[in-house]
Amino acid sequence: MKPTPETLERLKEITGDKGFVAEERDMAPYLVERRELYKGRAAAVLKPATTEEVSAIMKVAHEAGLHVVPQGGNTGLVGGQMPDGTGEEIVLSLTRMNKVRSLDAENNTLSVDAGVTLATAQEAASAADRLFPLSLASEGSCQIGGNLATNAGGTQVLRYGNARDLVLGLEVVLANGDIWNGLTGLRKDNTGYDLRHLFMGSEGTLGIITGAVLKLFPRPRAVSTGFAAVPDVAAAVKLLRIADGLSGGQVTTFELVPRIGVEFVTRHLEGASDPLPEASPWYVLIEMTAGAETAKLDETMEMALEEGLDTKLVTDAAIAQSEAQRDDFRRLRESLSDVQREEGGSIKHDVSVPVSRMADFITRATDAVSARLPGIRPVPFGHIGDGNVHFNLSQPVEMDKAAFLALWGEMNAIVHGIVREMNGSISAEHGVGQLKRDEIAATKSPVEMALMRAVKQALDPKGILNPGKVV
Ligand code: ZN
Repeated sequence: MKPTPETLERLKEITGDKGFVAEERDMAPYLVERRELYKGRAAAVLKPATTEEVSAIMKVAHEAGLHVVPQGGNTGLVGGQMPDGTGEEIVLSLTRMNKVRSLDAENNTLSVDAGVTLATAQEAASAADRLFPLSLASEGSCQIGGNLATNAGGTQVLRYGNARDLVLGLEVVLANGDIWNGLTGLRKDNTGYDLRHLFMGSEGTLGIITGAVLKLFPRPRAVSTGFAAVPDVAAAVKLLRIADGLSGGQVTTFELVPRIGVEFVTRHLEGASDPLPEASPWYVLIEMTAGAETAKLDETMEMALEEGLDTKLVTDAAIAQSEAQRDDFRRLRESLSDVQREEGGSIKHDVSVPVSRMADFITRATDAVSARLPGIRPVPFGHIGDGNVHFNLSQPVEMDKAAFLALWGEMNAIVHGIVREMNGSISAEHGVGQLKRDEIAATKSPVEMALMRAVKQALDPKGILNPGKVV
């Protein structure tokens, strides 16, 4: 429902002038995401400074039946943070809740407001000689609240798990304004349902995360970075198991890079060069880390790569000999999304299958999209160690961009059909948002959808929290 002028006045009293934005021009940055794929309108953007203010806002919203769209750093890729086009919804930005609350070095935990950026959380951990291992491309601007609400993934999931694995407690404002303080910081607590996991991955549809207790880890002091050429994806998976076994679980990052990706990077990124003398159809970026400075990780990496070479799983490889070379290897992987933009239209997929079926998936999906559109250029890359690949498709060289992008739905249907046949997920780490809402409803079992809707109904009976997203 559209808020009345009186209701808006009440909301403004809660947040103060600083936290109340209603001018079109000032609201604009909150109403469009970076790629401009999702845009919305809003009656106001509220920027509360405390949990109590969030609670007071929700009490008003609940009473008046206002729709509230929680927003963190506005870096989401599926439209979960965007209001609809009616101009009646309220955007609730956590940006001003940006304090690191406390760090408990002995408990190995960091307590933060939801609006703290991921980079700030990482820095706070590092200042105490600890590691907060969540790591994503948007870490400079994405916020912890959004990371947790979407159960973000990234490049170190292999070793440390998803966002939900890195949380010991949450503070959440519920749809009716009640505050649930679950900031226990306990590593063991079997006193009933583990409620925090309901909110993580709920994308703001069940409650608004306002604070969290995060798990910390020893700060790595040794790192080894390798770049290996492999003949196919199956070899990459076998190499992962060798590296993981030889290092005793110290592989932090294991990322797949296709040849076409290396070509895009060397073509469009200044200073980038081919990592190895001979071209190879596939590569992997491997990183091992250890807490002890004395760990001889380069030796372990070398052993793994040697074994790969001996068994023909690897055709060539290099280990970074300097920080500059390490950065070069990492950049080859990290810039893949950006350089794809320089090659015209790109149709994206964020899918997962069991790691053991990754090679089969990539082959089948590549064949299927190529049969539909000869000349299409698949760029499958990413977190192969987690069974998660960004199966992105660059347009054929000569094709019109708009004509290619018009095939988005059809390509999704082809790729997601194969994912489903392999018992995979059509949203591995980017969430559901608006983009995949109808698709998950059509593909999850009726039992699972009924459970999800029952949870939504119980926690948000009036349907005011992030309507139109997820369920
Ligand atoms: Zn990713």
